[in-house]
Amino acid sequence: MFQHRNALGQPLALPVGKVVCVGRNYAEHARELNNPVPSEPLLFMKPASALVALDTPIQLPQGQGAVHYETELALLIGQPLVRAEPESCVAAIHSLGLALDLTLREVQDKLKAQGHPWEKAKGFDGACPISHWVAYQGEELHGLQLSLHINGELRQQGCSAQMLTAIPALLSYISHWFSLQPGDVILTGTPAGVGVLEPGDRLTLELEGLLVAEAQVAESTL
Ligand code: ZN
Repeated sequence: MFQHRNALGQPLALPVGKVVCVGRNYAEHARELNNPVPSEPLLFMKPASALVALDTPIQLPQGQGAVHYETELALLIGQPLVRAEPESCVAAIHSLGLALDLTLREVQDKLKAQGHPWEKAKGFDGACPISHWVAYQGEELHGLQLSLHINGELRQQGCSAQMLTAIPALLSYISHWFSLQPGDVILTGTPAGVGVLEPGDRLTLELEGLLVAEAQVAESTL
């Protein structure tokens, strides 16, 4: 059973809620998938059942085509946010973390072409491997640097300054559509460089100065 944990592995006193994600929040990533850059945040959700600890081997779904990684800065919500103004949203950030927004890209492409919802491509069990959490202590939200190495090679690198919608405005926008509750998670979008995960891949995710998390894709399937 997934629980939110701190760097020492201790469970946090917060429930496990929904995961609200923003698509195409970095212009370069939108372009790499030939998607238009949206004029307002593009939101979707993953259920709580998609959350798994990043340090347990990643199980790739079988028979559904390519599974893409998307490395994202994650926010853990500590206080309710309902139709909140951007200035009041920062105080609701409990912790910072890193997550993989795993995506069945071929399934998603088919669903998009048919105009259907994406959930099957984004919300499956294990679709949101997530790191331990680091308490938010007022770091500059516009200067957070994240990166992903796979098997020692740099694949993704980004800075929160590149986000099309900055974090306070993003939280405010989300809270006007879905109230946010303590224990909910926000994924803030992925920088360019997404690609396919292969069995045995070793991943290193870094939030500069705050967090380094290792992950491995399972060699064989269950
Ligand atoms: Zn994403």
